[in-house]
Amino acid sequence: MHATWNNSYALLPEQMFARQTPTPVKAPASLVLNTELAEALGITFDENWPEFIAGNQVPEGAYPIAQAYAGHQFGHWNPQLGDGRAVLLGEVLSDLGRVDIQLKGSGRTPWSRGGDGRAWYGPVLREYLISESMHALGIPTTRALAAAATGENIQREPGPLPGAVICRTASSHIRVGTFQYFASRDDIEALQALLDHAIFRHYPDVKNTEDFLKASVSAQAHLIAQWMGVGFIHGVMNTDNSHVGGITIDYGPCAFMDDYVPAKVFSSIDRQGRYGYNNQPNLAAWNMAQLATALLPLANDTDAAIEQYTNIVQEFSDLFKEEYTKIFSQKIGLKPSSESAILIKKMLEMMEQTGADFTQSFRALGSDEISLHIGEHPEFRSWHDTWSQTANLENLNQINPALIARNHTVESMITKSVAGDMQLFHDFHMALKSPFVTPQNLDFTAAPKANEVIHQTFCGT
Ligand code: AMP
Ligand code: MG
Repeated sequence: MHATWNNSYALLPEQMFARQTPTPVKAPASLVLNTELAEALGITFDENWPEFIAGNQVPEGAYPIAQAYAGHQFGHWNPQLGDGRAVLLGEVLSDLGRVDIQLKGSGRTPWSRGGDGRAWYGPVLREYLISESMHALGIPTTRALAAAATGENIQREPGPLPGAVICRTASSHIRVGTFQYFASRDDIEALQALLDHAIFRHYPDVKNTEDFLKASVSAQAHLIAQWMGVGFIHGVMNTDNSHVGGITIDYGPCAFMDDYVPAKVFSSIDRQGRYGYNNQPNLAAWNMAQLATALLPLANDTDAAIEQYTNIVQEFSDLFKEEYTKIFSQKIGLKPSSESAILIKKMLEMMEQTGADFTQSFRALGSDEISLHIGEHPEFRSWHDTWSQTANLENLNQINPALIARNHTVESMITKSVAGDMQLFHDFHMALKSPFVTPQNLDFTAAPKANEVIHQTFCGT
């Protein structure tokens, strides 16, 4: 594995990370390699690449570290989280800019607490597939560069499961929780260094703390609106999984919804529905308020900063609404306006009442057919008449995907992969690269049959 490494995070104050090499495993083996992304990053891999992804070899020029962070998990403060099963190999400079290369599932670190530092095929292949699918949908996200099997079993609740490591890339791994870690320790040196670094990585034109917060709030509002537009539910929007650059990070028990249920929750650990589909904007705003709080120790005049930052965080709601209306107006072929907002609301209402499939209902607008369920609604005809008078159907199939990573297919892919059959993974992955093209295999676009519906997604770390 060769790349142009340039490890800027490792030059920050030493309390911000721990030097940590990945722990070697028994038998590294290939699962999947993203050759297109590797090429764009200027990374070359030989046939022994699984050795590097599984962590048995460290590439020359890398400087592996585990990063410190804290976070609010389901609203409860945890002063110390950190990379418990991940190491940042370093950053590469490439056509895609400065990009983090991280291994996840690579062994214990000083932040592992009771954990084994490992991951199994399930979360690794889920993250691989869904992050690449989000990228193909045009949504800011970490990406998947490779996954390797470790040749070791790990213990999880259902019993021993085959271990794997995912190598992911990101514009950085700076979380709201990274700021919280240093703010809560009154470590002004690290907090300032982190802010400067985050500005350098994400918002190079920003000159002060206030504008950094503004940029972060705006990026997050755009991101969540994009999630909503494809029916994506992250599942664990804790502050440690909230990225200050506004990219999707830490794919756990996430899922795309099938039938439209506004409060839909998949995650088995989200018992109160905190991170349900339509709660996501509120929670993102809450996370941004935690970022604002974590920036306060850097302010000269705390009272003035509180007022200023409160106003910035309050802007989230309008920013989100504007972006949401824009995205959903595009989805129904209209320019954003108060009329389009009414039509969107009505369409979603009819979808909810008829148990219509989210993806199929929008996709059907771009063709002559009407999606089965929503068409049954008594008010659908009159909605359709009003809508079709002004709607432009031309580009709808480039806006409404035919294909999302449906949960029942993801689960069945995991089951087969664990049994040694990766074919479904590869076929599904290939199709998900072109989500706006109706795939040859129509099983991938079909809503789950009653007996296929997955109601809960387990965190399954
Ligand atoms: P996550 O649910 O992936 O966002 O992780 C929450 C926290 O738990 C992070 O600090 C992780 O590093 C840590 N963690 C998750 N799984 C493991 C594991 N298998 N071993 C050690 N730490 C873990
Ligand atoms: Mg996390």
